[in-house]
Amino acid sequence: MLTRLDCDGLQSARECAVVTEIVALPRPFGSRYGVPVISCVDATIFHRAYFTHCLQCTFCHDWCCQYGVDVDMYHYQRIQRHADRLEVFTGIRREHWFTGEYEEDPQAPGGGSMRTSAMDGGCVFLNRKGRGCLLHVFCLEEGIDYHELKSMVDCLFPITFYEEILGPADEVDDASLVCLDTGPTLYRGLRGELEYYFGGEFVRTLDETEAHVARS
Ligand code: SF4
Repeated sequence: MLTRLDCDGLQSARECAVVTEIVALPRPFGSRYGVPVISCVDATIFHRAYFTHCLQCTFCHDWCCQYGVDVDMYHYQRIQRHADRLEVFTGIRREHWFTGEYEEDPQAPGGGSMRTSAMDGGCVFLNRKGRGCLLHVFCLEEGIDYHELKSMVDCLFPITFYEEILGPADEVDDASLVCLDTGPTLYRGLRGELEYYFGGEFVRTLDETEAHVARS
């Protein structure tokens, strides 16, 4: 049974300036790593849109890669396992990859995250000779699934998760995302990634939620 929750109880979680429609899911869903666990969805992901096909975008210049990204410890450890080859591939020594700032977070795979460094106006792993992410290109060239090295928040952007709610990233809420409202909705653009992380039943439930929200 889908229920609507008004914003009052969640003011502290997200500083909701506008009434946000948070819909409770029939049960909690844990990711393939166990966490995060999602039990509600912010219906904004069914309303707002973004370009989605990043490598074909001709106007953003990888805008959302300029500040670096949080890498959960599950993926941080896997990046370290490939460090020797990644150093050769990127031409950047491993001590320059992360800021060293560790943030504990029980909802992040591996229990916390490290931040990638930003240099010369972009994430350390930004592909300066082409588009997108060097970790992604490395995986493609090495025949590795990119989900093995790229962090969950990175692959799901501009959708994110906080306190068991699946919702839009801050760059959607504050409308700073330069490709906002071009392309499919956040949900439709990232349905495949959500299915990878949370499974088929999860996206079928979100399909139902999307239809429920559209009807109301
Ligand atoms: S999400 Fe938008 S701004 Fe970011 S790389 Fe993709 S198209 Fe560009």
